[in-house]
Amino acid sequence: IKHDRNVPPAQRLRYSFEFFPPKSEDMADQLWKTVDELCLWDPDFVSVTYGAGGTTREPTLSTVRRLIAETPLRTASHLTCVGATKEEVHQVVEQFRAVGVNHFVALRGDPQDGMGTAYQPHPGGYANAAELVAGLRELGDFEISVSAYPEKHPESPDEAADIDMLKRKVDNGACRALTQFFFDNDVFERYLERVRAAGISIPIVPGIMPIQNLNQLKRFASMCGATIPGFLDKRFAGLDEQPQARAEVAAEVAAEQIADLSARGIADFHLYTMNRSALVNATLRNLGLEPKGRRSEGTGAAA
Ligand code: FAD
Repeated sequence: IKHDRNVPPAQRLRYSFEFFPPKSEDMADQLWKTVDELCLWDPDFVSVTYGAGGTTREPTLSTVRRLIAETPLRTASHLTCVGATKEEVHQVVEQFRAVGVNHFVALRGDPQDGMGTAYQPHPGGYANAAELVAGLRELGDFEISVSAYPEKHPESPDEAADIDMLKRKVDNGACRALTQFFFDNDVFERYLERVRAAGISIPIVPGIMPIQNLNQLKRFASMCGATIPGFLDKRFAGLDEQPQARAEVAAEVAAEQIADLSARGIADFHLYTMNRSALVNATLRNLGLEPKGRRSEGTGAAA
């Protein structure tokens, strides 16, 4: 990593925000209120996840359509190839293109039965994200981001296989990788060194997960191969019944992680918002940043 300690970290930070499509009216209200607030941070781009097995194609499409039509946000859609033929994926791509999407986060996805089940490529479908990237490249001049796993993907036999897959995605046209969340920056730094040694030069953007609830996160992290360092137990100790204090610690932890990565030369960050603004706002404010963008128009949540 190129160290550049002369530039104040806050001045060179860029961030993107990840949302998921709402599953109910209440969740939709929550999302659009969050979008309205986070617009003020003028993110580099925002992205909307695409549910397991393609089950949320419609909610993802309508969320992305509204973001593009009603906000100034540059909007990327996640896209998976699990459980679909190439033709079906192409139809989905055309639907998203028609509402103005020109940036995809291209992913393999997980089997519908859950992350524990072995992945089976659909006959006639894309076998992995690298193939999907190549397919997207043929369909249009899209900006293509992909995933990266600083602690390796749980299905990868070893780190070399994991970085090899990233290399294939880049060779096929990916221009940015967004990482799975992690909390140990030394792990990320070592990963980045191996990625660069493999000849991969695209930005590897750390995925930052502000911790809404450490116990829930532990369950989720064990499924996706991310480790929760012991220092987090200490930071959150005794705060189970104190949501306000927990939120303050969470925003401190996330800001410290970003500041440390920034001091190691990283400028771009992908924040997993969980469709909530408070922790993201607090994290960015802890970094000494102030909102600078303008509010979205027409989401109906500005008041
Ligand atoms: P790939 O890049 O194809 O593979 C990832 C790694 O797994 C590779 O290193 C490869 O070595 C290994 N691998 C892949 N297939 C096999 C195999 N058959 N056998 C052995 N090893 C294998 N999921 C969603 O459903 N929707 C989303 O919107 C979504 N967004 C995400 C955003 C980010 C930033 C990240 C990090 C993940 C996201 N995921 C999402 C989760 C992702 O779909 C899963 O992690 C999935 O298991 C792998 O998809 P991928 O594109 O990372 O796979």
